[in-house]
Amino acid sequence: MGGRVALVTGASRGIGRAIALALGARGHKVALNYNNSAGAAEEAAVLINGSGGTAAVFQADVSVEKEAASLVEAATAEFGPVEILVNNAGITRDSLLMRMKDSDWDDVLRTNLSSVFYCTRAVVRGMMKARFGRIIAISSVSGLAGNAGQANYAAAKAGIIGFIKSVAREGASRGVTANVVAPGFIETDMTDALPDEIKKAVIPAIPSGRYGSPRDIAEAVAFLTSEEAGYITGQTLAVDGGMTM
Ligand code: NAP
Repeated sequence: MGGRVALVTGASRGIGRAIALALGARGHKVALNYNNSAGAAEEAAVLINGSGGTAAVFQADVSVEKEAASLVEAATAEFGPVEILVNNAGITRDSLLMRMKDSDWDDVLRTNLSSVFYCTRAVVRGMMKARFGRIIAISSVSGLAGNAGQANYAAAKAGIIGFIKSVAREGASRGVTANVVAPGFIETDMTDALPDEIKKAVIPAIPSGRYGSPRDIAEAVAFLTSEEAGYITGQTLAVDGGMTM
């Protein structure tokens, strides 16, 4: 198992951290990107290295093109060309459309969508040359169904799906797959910040009757990055307890 070079954006906390741990446990060399949470990223890397894996941390704000490009360069210098890219970094700036500020729109589009473009473009040439690549982007059920108060976030998350399908078409004949994972309601700092009434109201809409865990997402991502998933490309896999079926 493993032995590939993986880069996970936003790997200091939540879903990205769980993805990094899952890829580390499969024997991949994992480059963990973080923006502000240096200590948390270090802790995750220590966990991977301490259990026989290989990991290192890299600071970069992936919403900034130069930083995303430098991140890919730094990860490549440490471990070799990136073979698995997981575009996970994301933020929310929720508000009803009539009150949404330009900065709420711009920040969410840059962090959740432009970052996927910057990081994917930076790795794709090497993957095409190597005739192997696994590109994953983390979207959301909000990108599939829309969500009141999240017009910016839903637009970015839906944009990811069209982007990844295009990358999948460009890479398919060269062994490069590109897929989307669309989580439902997952217990992380992002959802912890929501008011209790919203958290309670969502449960009846989840056929599984529970919130998801970061590990639920990480295991789906790990499968899609495996050698065995080489015939799956351009797909969006909802991991949402049945919310959007
Ligand atoms: P989270 O707990 O808030 O963690 C967000 C992560 O993204 C952190 O590691 C953060 O790094 C990183 N990040 C944010 N902006 C960044 C930037 N500009 N550059 C680099 N890293 C950045 O969020 P989460 O719940 O794990 O969400 C992870 C992904 O899943 C996001 O794309 C989110 O939209 C998506 N998602 C989440 C849910 C859910 O229910 N939780 C549902 C659907 C989709 P630092 O802390 O180091 O700054």
